[in-house]
Amino acid sequence: MKRISPSGPVAGTVRLPGSKSITNRALLVAALASGESRLVGALRSDDTEAMIDSLSRLGVAVSWDGYDLIVAGSDGSLGAGDTEIDVRGSGTTARFLTAACTVRDGTVVVDGNRRMRQRPIGDLVRALGELGAAVEVLGEEDRPPVRVHGPALTGGAAILDASRSSQFASAVLMVAPCADGDTVLELREPIVSRPYIDQTLEVMRAFGAEAAWDGPTTLTVAAGGYAARDFIIEGDASAAAYPLVAAAVCGGSVRVGPLPEGSLQADLGLIPILERMGAEVRREGDDVILNGHPQTLAAVSENMNDAPDAVVALAVAALFAGGETRLTDIANLRIKESNRMEDLAMELRKLGGIAATGPDFLVVEGGELRAATIDPHDDHRMAMSFAVAGLRIPGVEIEDPECVAKTWPGFFAALESITTPLIIAVDGPGGVGKSTVSQAVAGRFGLGHLETGGMYRAGALAVLEAGIDIGDEAAVAALIDTLTVDVVDGRVIMNGTDVTDVLRTEAVSTASSRVSAVPRVREALVALQRRWVRPDGGGAVVEGRDIGTVVFPDSPAKVYLTARPDVRAIRRVRDLGLSEDDIPRIAADLAARDERDSTRAVSPLRPADDALILDTSDMPIEQVIDTVARFVIDRGRHPTT
Ligand code: C5P
Repeated sequence: MKRISPSGPVAGTVRLPGSKSITNRALLVAALASGESRLVGALRSDDTEAMIDSLSRLGVAVSWDGYDLIVAGSDGSLGAGDTEIDVRGSGTTARFLTAACTVRDGTVVVDGNRRMRQRPIGDLVRALGELGAAVEVLGEEDRPPVRVHGPALTGGAAILDASRSSQFASAVLMVAPCADGDTVLELREPIVSRPYIDQTLEVMRAFGAEAAWDGPTTLTVAAGGYAARDFIIEGDASAAAYPLVAAAVCGGSVRVGPLPEGSLQADLGLIPILERMGAEVRREGDDVILNGHPQTLAAVSENMNDAPDAVVALAVAALFAGGETRLTDIANLRIKESNRMEDLAMELRKLGGIAATGPDFLVVEGGELRAATIDPHDDHRMAMSFAVAGLRIPGVEIEDPECVAKTWPGFFAALESITTPLIIAVDGPGGVGKSTVSQAVAGRFGLGHLETGGMYRAGALAVLEAGIDIGDEAAVAALIDTLTVDVVDGRVIMNGTDVTDVLRTEAVSTASSRVSAVPRVREALVALQRRWVRPDGGGAVVEGRDIGTVVFPDSPAKVYLTARPDVRAIRRVRDLGLSEDDIPRIAADLAARDERDSTRAVSPLRPADDALILDTSDMPIEQVIDTVARFVIDRGRHPTT
């Protein structure tokens, strides 16, 4: 189980893992080539390990050299002899090697895990049969395991149903240069995920094959094999989705790469969609930089056929967008690592999102979002996407976080490297309920809580105890410079002593608002407050007078509480255990402090421009807490009620 810490605006750079789809394509093509290839910046993950282990079992030597893979090509033979391979949960390995083993001298059984045994392979087997291969389906209903008898690939013409998976087409294409003759592959429409086919052709041509589209649905491949080479693997565009969506929904800026300009990776299609939602995107060399504007994130309507792997991350982004997002033409989501359509909708609903599914579409809207424990259904993309949701919704937990290793073992470390502690700024005059609300919100979200008033009160106490004239700014400043103040578990420690219980006297209250007007005092205590929050990396609710305006102006959730003066005086009298007779005096004291706090030259009490202003005079405290909590999750969107 992994608990995700909520984040303020993100900041930083993410070096993407090598593309999974390019790594596995290049591995197979290099394994079929003549000579030794180096795959630079390859991805090390469960899926690529499945391919590497399977190739090794077939007799092709593959080894790591740092971030590179060295592949000893088999010159079109892929080893020899009878064997079995376990592709585990890797769809590309299952499909690519089923096709590739048709040129191999021997019998190979291709099997995988339970989920793999539920994923269809019949369309591929039939197309290979038309090209002369002998492949038996051993599983039920056209599903693995399969037994491949080779060598038997003659080439020729085949028709392939490409409506379920483009991996079938890629699998046939990649083995085709090693067939006895040329191959013509006719794809029956609709063709899903066409950019992946283009990516396959690009990798094949890089290794010397002649392969191209010959019309909108026809592909031709010349027999002739592959030649080994050094080949640079791009960053994984599918992986880029998570940091990019993190910036779109949390705000801030993230840089991801390497994603070269002319890259054919299908999931780069997510970037213009995020732009349409309101994010700003620019390119610097091979890197993409995204600046997010979560307060104005807008819903979109998109055909996702070309970028199905980006759907999960996009659906999470849609939770935080204004309006209803429609993602269409995604029927094949039902046969991914999980039944990604229904599982995704179910987990979105756990977070309070509104999600409706159709045969080939998904509609998502943010509702009353709340924390939940997410079951990724053993699907790396679900785990990574919902971790991003947890940056916005405090308290999200991900079951089985290890499943991200399928494509990105270092995912959580990369995500944490761009997050910042979430600071909720609560400002307002005395007696409005700041402390009660701040404490409750901190408790609900598992955040720290800092009452900065206690620091100013400690400063005032020190000045009073030292007998210094508060009007003597130089003397007050000198004293502050020698003072140590800390807040530990809500207790105020001054010069090593717990002074919490003596800070609430009227003398200290009055002195605190005078001491706090001294610029040097503010400078020292503001620095202390910023430092206090940082070690507590999980974020905090910080309350005071100038938190949203001065101390943490980047806070994505600023709240300004107010209440009528008579209400505040009554609350204060109750807090201090005084009698009704004291109300006029306390009211006068609060009024005088308000006046000083709001008219002082430095950091006067006032709401930040983007603060939620809540008059708590006639609101039950629970309602105030709920309103603030909702505002935090909605990250700055002002509630309409
Ligand atoms: O919040 P509390 O009433 O304990 O604060 C005592 C005084 O400290 C306030 O009247 C105000 O003058 C000062 N203060 C401040 N800035 C803060 C918090 C408190 O000036 N962030």
